[in-house]
Amino acid sequence: MLQVTNIKKSFSDKEVIKGIDFSINKGEVVVIIGPSGSGKSTILRMMNALEFPTSGDIALEGDSVLYKTVNGKKQPRKEKELCKFRAEIGMVFQGFHLFAHKTVLENIIEGPLQIKNVKKDVAVKEAEQLLEKVGLSDKRDQYPHSLSGGQQQRVAIARALAMKPKMLLFDEPTSALDPELIGEVLIVMKDLANEGMTMAVVTHEMGFAKEVGDRIIFLDKGVVVQATTPQEFFAASNENERVNKFLRTLTRNTV
Ligand code: ADP
Ligand code: MG
Repeated sequence: MLQVTNIKKSFSDKEVIKGIDFSINKGEVVVIIGPSGSGKSTILRMMNALEFPTSGDIALEGDSVLYKTVNGKKQPRKEKELCKFRAEIGMVFQGFHLFAHKTVLENIIEGPLQIKNVKKDVAVKEAEQLLEKVGLSDKRDQYPHSLSGGQQQRVAIARALAMKPKMLLFDEPTSALDPELIGEVLIVMKDLANEGMTMAVVTHEMGFAKEVGDRIIFLDKGVVVQATTPQEFFAASNENERVNKFLRTLTRNTV
């Protein structure tokens, strides 16, 4: 589904992504784990064409997201084409990013109406189905500020799904939530995974990573330190020093 090839990224003269390769198969849930500042958000933003790598390429179903070849010459895609890819890869952010002045329903139908030219009655019907799916039918006409963080994040997931994306990217979707609201968002994500949605998830929720992840990619200082199954990653026999150091830090913070 998605192929990341030798991606590097520098901000000014600081290289923060130092040559990363991985791929995500259709229906797979890849969990990206790593310390703060290791480059997780930057990778996701490049996967969604919100940020251009300094070198390397990203392909969605074999098509380069970033470049097109004209007369044998590679050129960066124009904004309009990047938008087309963005519509195919949904993104859910830590801070929800809902439109504050729009109701829950309006938030969900905005993309289909504006970007995909879906008829309003069709968009509304689909939005209502999505609200049912995330358990928020009764919030249809409310504004985001009247919802809890967990509810807002579920609206954000419904909004991403309304675009019928080929895959979904989650950047620490539960990190801004009070602990008691994390579960309701993880349940929605787990349901999506079980339905076969292709997902890349940056999270510190190790329970989710273990249970729902098909693969774990551990990132540190802009390189992939380990890419393996959850079984191997969390096994007592995993002797990778950087992985163990990170996992110990998490345990200390949550106990
Ligand atoms: P993570 O999501 O793993 O915490 P980020 O991808 O946000 O890490 O950041 C990786 C590194 O890149 C950090 O050192 C961060 O300061 C730097 N960085 C990220 N975005 C920018 C930017 N727009 N300009 C300059 N430096 C940035
Ligand atoms: Mg981040």
